[in-house]
Amino acid sequence: RTFSHYQLSDEIKRSLTVMKYDTPTEVQDKVIPKAMENQDLVVKSQTGSGKTAAFGIPVCEMIEWEEKKPQALILTPTRELAAQVREDIMNIGRFKRIKATAVYGKEPFSKQKEELKQKTHVVVGTPGRVMDHIERGTLVLDQIKYLIIDEADEMLNMGFIQDVETIIKQVPKTRVTMVFSATLPQDVENLCHKYMNNPVQIEI
Ligand code: AMP
Repeated sequence: RTFSHYQLSDEIKRSLTVMKYDTPTEVQDKVIPKAMENQDLVVKSQTGSGKTAAFGIPVCEMIEWEEKKPQALILTPTRELAAQVREDIMNIGRFKRIKATAVYGKEPFSKQKEELKQKTHVVVGTPGRVMDHIERGTLVLDQIKYLIIDEADEMLNMGFIQDVETIIKQVPKTRVTMVFSATLPQDVENLCHKYMNNPVQIEI
């Protein structure tokens, strides 16, 4: 299979060509068609499997450029991963001129606040800092249509699961939720059961 198998816009296809993504990886092949049908997904997959583009492609495809408030929220356990995911989203969305902002700790709040004031389509961040921005009103979630929880088991290991739950509760219910995790411990399963809409489980 090639990416032309999916119903992707010319802008996204063009960026995949530039990135030299010719063939979808297994996780991409399983996730992209279902995500584009607005199906909630729990995906068991490792880093290096191409999971970022598996959610990045459908997210970028769905973004409406004119909307001023963020439409996708991606939670990651670490700053490094947040920065990497932001970069991947910017690359996949470059010909749609999609803007992604990363928010994480150990970087000035004020700088991120200024960035969030500009139009940004996608916000990628670590749970603690995302909560800060929500509480201070610098991150508005009422237009979020995609919620991605990346490396959910790591989030649990690092003690962020409570923060993640607090954030999920503030995202509008009419949304697509995707959870990516290398393993599925009980606490992650419980979270999925509680906050997702008939999720389909995908194992790679
Ligand atoms: P990830 O699992 O998202 O961290 O991706 C692992 C690596 O695979 C990254 O360097 C991606 O740029 C690369 N990658 C992801 N999808 C593809 C693809 N379809 N074709 C070629 N490389 C890819």
